[in-house]
Amino acid sequence: MNIRSKLYFERAKKAIPGGVNSPVRACLAVKSDPIFFERGEGAYLIDADGNRYIDYVASWGPIILGHAHPNIIAEIYFASKRGTSFGAPTWLEVEMAETINRCIPSMEKVRLVNSGTEATMSALRLARAFTGRKKILKFDGCYHGHGDSLLVKAGSGLATFGIPSSPGVPEELTAHTISVPYNDEIAVEEAFKKYGSEIACVILEPVPANMGVVIPRGDFLNFLREITQRYGSLLIFDEVITGFRVSLGGAQELFNIKPDITCLGKIIGGGLPVGAYGGREEIMSLVAPEGPVYQAGTLSGNPIAVSAGLATIKELMKPGSYDRLEALSQLLEDGIKNVLAELGLPYRVTRFKSMLTLFFTSKEVSNFQDALTSDTDKFALFWQGMLKRGVYLPPSQFEAWFVSLAHNEDHIEKTIEATRETLLELKG
Ligand SMILES: *Cc1c(COP(=O)(O)O)cnc(C)c1O
Repeated sequence: MNIRSKLYFERAKKAIPGGVNSPVRACLAVKSDPIFFERGEGAYLIDADGNRYIDYVASWGPIILGHAHPNIIAEIYFASKRGTSFGAPTWLEVEMAETINRCIPSMEKVRLVNSGTEATMSALRLARAFTGRKKILKFDGCYHGHGDSLLVKAGSGLATFGIPSSPGVPEELTAHTISVPYNDEIAVEEAFKKYGSEIACVILEPVPANMGVVIPRGDFLNFLREITQRYGSLLIFDEVITGFRVSLGGAQELFNIKPDITCLGKIIGGGLPVGAYGGREEIMSLVAPEGPVYQAGTLSGNPIAVSAGLATIKELMKPGSYDRLEALSQLLEDGIKNVLAELGLPYRVTRFKSMLTLFFTSKEVSNFQDALTSDTDKFALFWQGMLKRGVYLPPSQFEAWFVSLAHNEDHIEKTIEATRETLLELKG
């Protein structure tokens, strides 16, 4: 029963556009009303009616230690007792920048901001300033926050020029954005042949998680490193999700690639609002006040948020953290695949480390077009069935499920059992 959630939502719709402060929370894609939550405890979320769910949304990624982790809460408490914001430097910011640099050496200098969106917007400005070029190349289905230049619809064909995917974004702005299919070297090659000398940067999620989880093919990331160097463009890795999730060094460590600029967010705030961008010293030195590229923030490097982030990274640095995440995630993947085989369903599971998507399609998903072959009506019913069985999944087919260190074998088994029951019910 979700009586309170429904009541709250009715009120929310009158006070807030769509009743939510970020669109996907409205659960429109799963044809449901949103659940209002009151508490999180480890692997669980507890809603306004007292129902408990095993959570795989993890606030869209940050909650990699589980909800209300005692060490994080303690750090937040002690930090807040010292004052909530000074608008002046603190030692914590230096510690955070140095910690990030130690884990992700390509981020030679780091600027802290308040969200992933701010990080990617600032990174683009910087790339354009550094190269003196206007155009950016992105990939269909990769999400980089809601900055104007990055809100470009997936076009058809090769190197389709940006049509804004939101009213209010001038075409003159997105005309500088080229969007091509992920994992498509030919499309990238074509775009560079045509506009190479005008392309400031290529920005991508090294392992996309915002079209559902997609794995970069063989040499795709190496190819991007090579072609950007050949044309004098910058390579920007948006590791807002993958940073500190797939390993301490992000996807760039696992694929052994050095991007020019990296964007972070989510996990480095430990559940509070933080973002970061950083890269080669020569590039970052253009950022004000060292250089002319303006970028600022009243609350940037906020001591409470940075404390929560540092405490989170400290936990992740404990030996075995990522092995544990991998083992749990492998268990989940295997369990779901077994259920699919048992029920004779052709659906696809894609997993990279502790990020997983069950695509309701029989096609292998290696780009957004493939992801779009998924039966989203079926997914909506699946989501509802899982919710009924106490599992809270991201309310969209095109998202990742996140495994956290608060999950255990029992949670995973319950999730697999709920998957079996739900898929069986859907088969009818
Ligand atoms: C979430 C996300 C962003 C935007 O971060 P916000 O903090 O929501 O602004 C940018 N890039 C990627 C890859 C993301 O997943």
